[in-house]
Amino acid sequence: MSCRGRYAPSPTGMIHAGNARTALAAWLSARSRGGAFVWRVEDLDPPRVVPGLAEAQMQDLAWLGLDWDEGPDVGGPFAPYVQSARSAFYDEALRRLAAAGRLFPCRLSRKDLQAVASAPHGAEEVPYPASLRPRELAPDWFERLCAGPPDAAVRFRVDERPVAFVDRVQGPITERADLAVGDFVLKRRDGLWAYQLAVVVDDLAMAIDDVVRGADLLASTARQIQLIAALGGTPPAYAHVPLMVNARGEKLSKRDQGLTLHSLREAGVAPEAVAGYLAHSLGLLDRPEPCRPADLVPLFAWEKIGRADWVLPEDLAGSLAT
Ligand code: GLU
Repeated sequence: MSCRGRYAPSPTGMIHAGNARTALAAWLSARSRGGAFVWRVEDLDPPRVVPGLAEAQMQDLAWLGLDWDEGPDVGGPFAPYVQSARSAFYDEALRRLAAAGRLFPCRLSRKDLQAVASAPHGAEEVPYPASLRPRELAPDWFERLCAGPPDAAVRFRVDERPVAFVDRVQGPITERADLAVGDFVLKRRDGLWAYQLAVVVDDLAMAIDDVVRGADLLASTARQIQLIAALGGTPPAYAHVPLMVNARGEKLSKRDQGLTLHSLREAGVAPEAVAGYLAHSLGLLDRPEPCRPADLVPLFAWEKIGRADWVLPEDLAGSLAT
């Protein structure tokens, strides 16, 4: 069986060491099994998308030594590889889910939900309690919603059954999506497609069976597995790679400019030094010896990948300089 992996960054920030490490793991997972690697641009949140960043991200990872068989720059059988050009696919999936009775419109604001939530939620998502589901829906609610200007979000009815899967890094996971998040949004009230729908529809359409991404997305996986089942698909294998944090133990952000591939490159660091460092941080090399990603293909095994977050030094460029 051929394996198909992907890297699907949102063009909202420069590739930093943590993104590069996840991309390297995703690339190695596919390449070590002779699989194909796909690049997909996840640009569904227009206010956050920075023009030119998708290209810059590709340049940075090509500099590191990664390559891809399909993507916005090279094309491929599942084009387009840019989510903003794939609305027809999301539309079609939404229609199927509506026909199957899995959707309902929601006009509650985040504030309304916050008011009914039993516990305070600082997170961006407030669990949607099943008690708020509409008891009855007009048979043509979906058509009417599609016909007019967007005035309601569309939510997916989650299943109460626990979702169980084995993550290749994090181990066996069981999650009750109904308790963790409840019925979640697939299309926002402002008409934008939600990440959860787009990622599932695209991975199915592009025949992706190997999903490697940051551990911050582990909490989305149970939801995505439920959506895949509702669309009649088979879930891919999942691996959620631990995050890299800055010297203060914080998740990397735009403030950590010095930790981007671009700044390392500008500082004269060789791509081999970065690749060796990332491979060492993943557990693939005992020491951070310079290497090319291609040299790592025979060394790759999921059993070697550690579960702990990796703390980056303040002066990464300095510590990688030869
Ligand atoms: N676009 C997401 C991000 O940049 C990744 C989505 C995924 O790999 O499922 O965080």
